[in-house]
Amino acid sequence: MSDAVDKQTSAFYPEELVSRIRANTERDAWARTVRDAAVEAAEPWLAFSDEALWEMMFGHTITRSWMVWSNGHCPVCNGQTPMYTWKVDALAHPWKVHCPHCDESFPKNDFAAFHRSGLDEKGVFDPARADRALLFNAEHPDPDDPLHAFGVDDGEGYLEGETRWRFIGAYLIYGQWKQLILGGIENLSAAYVLTGEPVYARKAGVLLDRVADLYSTFDFEKEGLA
Ligand SMILES: [Zn+2]
Repeated sequence: MSDAVDKQTSAFYPEELVSRIRANTERDAWARTVRDAAVEAAEPWLAFSDEALWEMMFGHTITRSWMVWSNGHCPVCNGQTPMYTWKVDALAHPWKVHCPHCDESFPKNDFAAFHRSGLDEKGVFDPARADRALLFNAEHPDPDDPLHAFGVDDGEGYLEGETRWRFIGAYLIYGQWKQLILGGIENLSAAYVLTGEPVYARKAGVLLDRVADLYSTFDFEKEGLA
């Protein structure tokens, strides 16, 4: 990351408009509630270090999938989980999806640790580098435990016979991308426009900078499942 700042003015919000917005928040109760809501929405991202925000952006090397399993069920409770029904709350439960019926979380392995073990010198996950010894059910660490491999996803899904649950593939879209990265950029930038506090702009900039690094490497047609 470079500390050089070339950009001096806003591309989207002219100075005059920003001044009027901020003046309104000083004298107008309704505008203050809008500002306070934006500040509250951005709060979770202030807790992340710049490094942690930079690391949020993932590479194109794991298949993204809009569905865990299009016509599937939960491997624990067998409840039907078709299409877009799995629950994702990436701030509270990073790298996990939850069953809408029994609330069981998947994958069962520590995917963050596995992902970290596979990062190359550019910070992009390389499956060939990743430490597959980390692929076990963290709730059943004993290798002799019959559930040792249950619910484990290496990024390309958890397999039972012919069945594949793409927990991580779906999490990348709904959790990591939409909630953490896009959500962070949107909430931080809104808080910056409304408050003028540089910390929001800086953190939004870290996310945008890292998205810009990797965005052109993505090709959903080849790497994604709709
Ligand atoms: Zn369930």
